[in-house]
Amino acid sequence: AKLEDFRNEPFTDFRQKSALLAMEEAIFRMKSEELGREIPLRIGGRDIFTDAKIRSINPGNLDETIGWVSKADRELAEQAMQAALDTFESWKKVTPRERAQYLLKAAALMTERKHEFSAMMVLEAGKNYAEADADTAEAIDFLNFYAREMIRLSEINETMPLTPVPGEHNRLTYIPLGVGVIIPPWNFPLAICVGMTSAAIVAGNTVLLKPASNTPVIAYKFATLMEEVGLPAGVLNFIPGSGAEVGDYLTTHPKTRFVSFTGSKEVGLRISKLAAETASGQIWIKRLVAEMGGKDGIVVDETADLDAAAQAIVASAFGYQGQKCSAGSRALIVESVHDEVVEKVVRFTKQLEIGLPEENKAVGPVIDEASFRKILDYIEIGKQEGQLLVGGRQAEGNGYYIEPTVFADVDGKARIMQEEIFGPVLAIGKAKDWREAIAMYNDTEFGLTGAFFSREEDRIGEALETMHCGNLYINRKCTGALVGAHPFGGFNLSGTDSKAGGYDYLLLFTQAKLTSRKL
Ligand code: GLU
Repeated sequence: AKLEDFRNEPFTDFRQKSALLAMEEAIFRMKSEELGREIPLRIGGRDIFTDAKIRSINPGNLDETIGWVSKADRELAEQAMQAALDTFESWKKVTPRERAQYLLKAAALMTERKHEFSAMMVLEAGKNYAEADADTAEAIDFLNFYAREMIRLSEINETMPLTPVPGEHNRLTYIPLGVGVIIPPWNFPLAICVGMTSAAIVAGNTVLLKPASNTPVIAYKFATLMEEVGLPAGVLNFIPGSGAEVGDYLTTHPKTRFVSFTGSKEVGLRISKLAAETASGQIWIKRLVAEMGGKDGIVVDETADLDAAAQAIVASAFGYQGQKCSAGSRALIVESVHDEVVEKVVRFTKQLEIGLPEENKAVGPVIDEASFRKILDYIEIGKQEGQLLVGGRQAEGNGYYIEPTVFADVDGKARIMQEEIFGPVLAIGKAKDWREAIAMYNDTEFGLTGAFFSREEDRIGEALETMHCGNLYINRKCTGALVGAHPFGGFNLSGTDSKAGGYDYLLLFTQAKLTSRKL
């Protein structure tokens, strides 16, 4: 049967009482049935429990343990590598269509159990309902999208035929690379983990999934879902562990064919360096797909809908506490409307309620102690660099709560304008006109997302050309890219220019083999 065209999984409307109740029920169920369990590694389809454990906690309620997660060391990482190498020999022979079926089945099951996955992220990652729901929807999208993409690539000779040459039969096949190391982030602990893993798998590779240490339990739920749909043992090996130990070991391993990483610039650059070395016995150049940070911003000119702009600034800066690489942590506003926009931004920010994610408060905790300290340090730096308008302190609660914080009059070169904070801190700068605002926007080492607010057609045209970022939005917020519609990934130190959820993405996990047969 022909597959229906890809469509985005719709978001749940939590203004409906029934949706709200369903989510509350799922949270209750996760708490009573799943929290606090011991979680094994999965290597070649076997459970391995280790004495050393990662304790995953609820960042919004530090007394709540989400799970005790087994921790791989080098030896176990090596076992996982062997399992993945062995399995690759059979998995690479499974047809693309058949591989795609596992993703489609997983997407269907995840859709049925949507709130369960979202609930786990409310508890483990500190997401409110809408943020968690969007994360699950995106995970479902990645599965559905990459399944179709693999089928499309496998039919490329029919849809995009090679140039005919008389007396020859020529074909191009996208074959897998080998064993890949997948290192996803904690901030989209389901969506990005699923996207990175499923793309690699559907392309015919086997993987070593090292989930983020803050969110291994939701990653484990995904790993078990893949087993439930019958993915052969050893295709996806689940090996939580420390970056310094397991991450480095596998990145430098001679049998690692590719590394797919999403996370900070510092770690990404380190992986890039380690992966560039050729280990003894290694017979390829490792491929690296890295999606790193951002210092994204919203530019507002004097013709813009100022209410809409202020709302977008607040949503982009404080959605999931600013912990997105797409977060709009800068706003660059034209002088003549600056005060009016700032007044609105401050008003909307003050309306945001802070509190427990499971009570669905707008702003929840940041992910862990280290982030908490780092963000509070940046707030102190901000106090030297700009004018604190709202927030600026730790907030109440048994977790890592920080008030949404806005600084104005921040110079373009200030640290809080240049460095990724990954927390609820917004820096506002003033420009004499819209071109200067765009120049300030472009003055960054990153280039992930941006937005331009204006009603002037020719300015929009110029902004489309000159704002240098991978995902540029006009008159809307700069977060919330949709799979298929907004292929996601940035320029410069934001990564390797890959586009998750786009038509080019699977190519990064394959190599093209040309065969030419004389007739
Ligand atoms: N794709 C997400 C967005 O558009 C951001 C992903 C990330 O933060 O890593 O908001």
